[in-house]
Amino acid sequence: MATVSETRQGRFSSERYSRQVLFAGIGEAGQEKLRAAHVAIVGCGATGAAAASLVARAGVGKLTLIDRDFVEESNLQRQVLFDEADARDCLPKAEAARRKIALFNSEVTVEPHVADLTPGNIHELLAGAELVLDATDNFETRYLVNDYAVEQAKAWIYSAAVGAYAATMNILPGETACLACIFPEPPTGTVETCDTAGILNSAVNLAASLAVTEALKLIVGARERVRRTLLSCDLWVNEWSAVSAAKPRAGCEVCEKRNLRHLRGEGRPHITLCGRNSVQIHEHGRPVDFKELEARLRPHGNVRSNSMLLRFERGEHTLTVFADGRAIIQGTTDVGAARTLYARYIGS
Ligand SMILES: [Zn+2]
Repeated sequence: MATVSETRQGRFSSERYSRQVLFAGIGEAGQEKLRAAHVAIVGCGATGAAAASLVARAGVGKLTLIDRDFVEESNLQRQVLFDEADARDCLPKAEAARRKIALFNSEVTVEPHVADLTPGNIHELLAGAELVLDATDNFETRYLVNDYAVEQAKAWIYSAAVGAYAATMNILPGETACLACIFPEPPTGTVETCDTAGILNSAVNLAASLAVTEALKLIVGARERVRRTLLSCDLWVNEWSAVSAAKPRAGCEVCEKRNLRHLRGEGRPHITLCGRNSVQIHEHGRPVDFKELEARLRPHGNVRSNSMLLRFERGEHTLTVFADGRAIIQGTTDVGAARTLYARYIGS
């Protein structure tokens, strides 16, 4: 015999998703597939929090959330799962997200991992998930996810947002283009990030909404409805573009030649601890324009440069950047933290 709470939960479940089940694309069968699904979200910042909120409310049964960062006040403008108390307590984002999701959908199982996704842990962290949503802020991790997805023949969805710009693409290994088909090389030089160019919360939520809609299609099996383009838009200047990603590119190093160097750990710049309380990132293929970078970093801290190097001080950290992209980050011995600072202020 069902207990009172089980009965209540059962009734609650059918009411909870009633408007979604009414939608012809989902239906009862689709809702059941969502309940049985396991989705991983890599990164739990703005895009990740918005995506996690949407998939959890939609009733995806199990979520893996991976993020190494903690909640800060400057996140609250756009990171929909966090509040002022989370920022005051410096709660890790993955755990803060788990707690918030439990408040609005206790039927979802959330596995938070306070970790950097690396070649060493990606197989373990993503093993159970049938679909991976990218909500990172850097190409290094995206190429790693791309290698893994191609190796495992697992679908993933690329999403990006910065300024008023949002972009997303579905990658179905063996069927569509992979990330390396479209972007054989990462953006060169220093790139704009949310910490230098700012970001509109609407751009982030749009990227997450587009990605989660595609995730729902994949989970319920509406594969013929899945978008096969790299879709991007700049909401401020009203520009939209869609580039076909329907077919793999001939000669692609990743999905055709299976050269999975990011999965082998070869795509990451070597990082060493150096001296007391500093970390060196041995990037060497990222030409840096000191004048341009100095102008970009000026609003964010103390910055000065000469012909040899640029030095940027912010809070307890000092970043010293050399002309080929190599950097020494003083004020930490945490390799992951150093990597995050580099991705935020120099590029990823
Ligand atoms: Zn490819």
